[in-house]
Amino acid sequence: MNTLTQKKCIYCNKRKDRTEFSKEHIIPETLIKNLLIDLNITHDVCKKCNNNLGLHVDSRFARSWIYKFYCALGSYEYLRIDKTNDAPLIYWGKIDNLNIGNEYICELWGSPCGSRILHIHNKSSFEFDDLAGGDPKQLRKRPGIAIFINMQKSQDKLLLGLRAFVRHFKKAKRYINNITFRDEENYSIVGDKPNTYIQNIVDDFFIKYPIKEDGQLISQKFFVNIDFENRLLAKIGIGLAYNILGPSFLETDSYKDLYNTLWNKSSDNNLFILNFFKSFEIAPLDQFSWKGGIVISFHSTNNKIILCLSIYNNIIGIELVNNFDGDIYKKFTKYLNTVYIVIPIIKYCVEISYYDFLLYKTGNKSSRLLVQLDEMRTNFRPY
Ligand SMILES: [Zn+2]
Repeated sequence: MNTLTQKKCIYCNKRKDRTEFSKEHIIPETLIKNLLIDLNITHDVCKKCNNNLGLHVDSRFARSWIYKFYCALGSYEYLRIDKTNDAPLIYWGKIDNLNIGNEYICELWGSPCGSRILHIHNKSSFEFDDLAGGDPKQLRKRPGIAIFINMQKSQDKLLLGLRAFVRHFKKAKRYINNITFRDEENYSIVGDKPNTYIQNIVDDFFIKYPIKEDGQLISQKFFVNIDFENRLLAKIGIGLAYNILGPSFLETDSYKDLYNTLWNKSSDNNLFILNFFKSFEIAPLDQFSWKGGIVISFHSTNNKIILCLSIYNNIIGIELVNNFDGDIYKKFTKYLNTVYIVIPIIKYCVEISYYDFLLYKTGNKSSRLLVQLDEMRTNFRPY
């Protein structure tokens, strides 16, 4: 094979023919909605890694109960009731005991209008138990049944909820309960009226999971893989460091550490990762985060460069470079003093110096950009 037509994939570290490569979003598109293009796009990832890591690493994070939950609540900080078509649903997990047959499971979702959504689909293997919807491939083939149970009287909020429902369950067989449309055409867009089978499931749901007026607590189950974010962090770390430092990064020990974490499925030896649940120990949460947004920042400490991601106020981080020299430091300088705030739901992004960001957050100095961003906040509440 002609080496001129070959290049190295930054994730599997193998040389492959140029035709085997495709465009890759380093931080998954689902998280930051195609923003930060310059920093986030690479063409040096092979198609095989793009597909495999998308399914087993990106999906594992983006479909986890924790991310789904915080993403929905965080996004509502900026949700515009009249404009937003892609308001995320809140994932409540699996519910048991409904009469739906042994081969199916039912997951419960909440819509941004406070209504309930039941999603009934085939069970998938244990491997996918910690993913909302189970096995993504199976779900594509058999998207199941989704039932929207309306509990909202405000027309605006109901429409918002229905749009989110249709978008989220595009392929599923959709039904709507407790809504009557005057225009028959709406049924073809949103979903059918419930038949006897569907109505029985809804009745069964309300008997077994009565909605209380106060806390509205019901029991549900969800599985969380303890290290669900490690491999994603390593993948993002490799991609961003490579974009900043260039191909020489692939020859460093730091790259080897990140590579081992990316491909280590058992999650041992990942000590240089700042865990999702331990974030309080490393820094005051507020110093790196923005309510309703994803904050990306790079820091240098003890001769290390650390990538810090605050995802809807949950901080995770990873060491990108250990023992850096002057050349590496020079290439990183621009980024070490910069904070990127991404508000995915309104597809908005702010780049600001870390110094100004801290002064604004501590109330010591105003910032036009951050005042504007604060003014875009809607503090939307579903109920
Ligand atoms: Zn590869």
